[in-house]
Amino acid sequence: MSEVKAYAASSKTAELEPLNIERRDITKEDVEIDILYCGVCHSDIHTVKNDWKNSQYPVVPGHEIIGRVTKVGDNVKNFKEGDLVGVGCMVDSCQTCDSCKEDLEQYCENGATYTYNSEDKHLGGYTFGGYSEKVVVDKKFVLSVPENLDIKAVAPLLCAGITTFSPLNHWNVKKGDKVGVIGLGGLGHMGIKFAHAMGAHVVMITTSPGKSGDAKKLGADEVLISKDEEEMKKHANSFDFLLNTVPVGHDVNPYIGLLKRDATMVLVGAIEPLDPIHGGGLIASRKTIAGSLIGGIKETQEMLDFCGKHDIVSDVEMIDIQNINDAYERVQKSDVKYRFVIDMKSLKES
Ligand code: NAP
Ligand code: ZN
Repeated sequence: MSEVKAYAASSKTAELEPLNIERRDITKEDVEIDILYCGVCHSDIHTVKNDWKNSQYPVVPGHEIIGRVTKVGDNVKNFKEGDLVGVGCMVDSCQTCDSCKEDLEQYCENGATYTYNSEDKHLGGYTFGGYSEKVVVDKKFVLSVPENLDIKAVAPLLCAGITTFSPLNHWNVKKGDKVGVIGLGGLGHMGIKFAHAMGAHVVMITTSPGKSGDAKKLGADEVLISKDEEEMKKHANSFDFLLNTVPVGHDVNPYIGLLKRDATMVLVGAIEPLDPIHGGGLIASRKTIAGSLIGGIKETQEMLDFCGKHDIVSDVEMIDIQNINDAYERVQKSDVKYRFVIDMKSLKES
């Protein structure tokens, strides 16, 4: 085992601070990665604050990891020392259930092992994420990163990217569809970029009028302020698809009103109770509300290759790890353009 530097929260009210953690020695199947960059996802904050009531402390967050391979096990043939790689939200799954066999490890029927706050099957205790110098991951959960992209801006693709790409893909969003992306944060800004690249007519649906200019630069054709009831009425029954990234429980009924007959709104943000839903809003025009969790490893690689081909990366604000607590404050105020990424040099040199 080796000891590496990390940043951790020791309780739901504590700030993140330095902590040394253990990483396992590589097995034959493992890849050891020196972490260069790690994105800051709102899920990191939910976990630190125990919003989902399952946090195990200390929590070392981080599941948007970019790094270079430093060592590989004997059975690893597709990666070698020096390769640029990514690790997202999962580091293992059973590989035998129907979901795993269909490349949907995120829905593993025996429970996927998440990059942080999951039972660690190798060392005992709980997994530690990417706010650290190194990580050791089973080869099946390591992604190849196209070298032509700006790599610090690739980090958020590992979670924000796949979480928005996967539902757009699964629900067959296509050229000419009217697609609404609700919430312009880390996930939302990637949702706009992907829907635009897929040829959709993209409407950014936001609570923040000040983000309109940015939304258009990111690829939105229109901006709809969700608090403006008159504007909402003008768009009633007109959307082919809605991607809802709002990070808290909320009233989804106004958004249901925006969907066309037979159209679907996919929730990816609110992993908690919603306000009551009026059945009539769904029944009257055969509308659907669905949910979606990240994406499988195969689809994550497809997403990265799509980004390589279409030159898509995140819009990032770089920070040193020492400023992580301020970054969390800003994310909670919806004040980030549009993803914080930690330059891990700041941890190594601290
Ligand atoms: P984020 O950067 O904080 O963005 C969320 C955006 O939602 C905000 O910028 C804001 O946009 C809007 N918003 C915030 N509070 C709102 C409210 N009370 N009502 C309406 N809109 C509100 O968060 P993120 O990193 O994109 O993550 C979004 C959510 O997805 C989090 O809950 C995260 O845990 C979850 N998540 C889920 C998955 C999955 O697999 N399903 C994966 C990753 C993350 P405007 O200013 O434009 O309104
Ligand atoms: Zn995430």
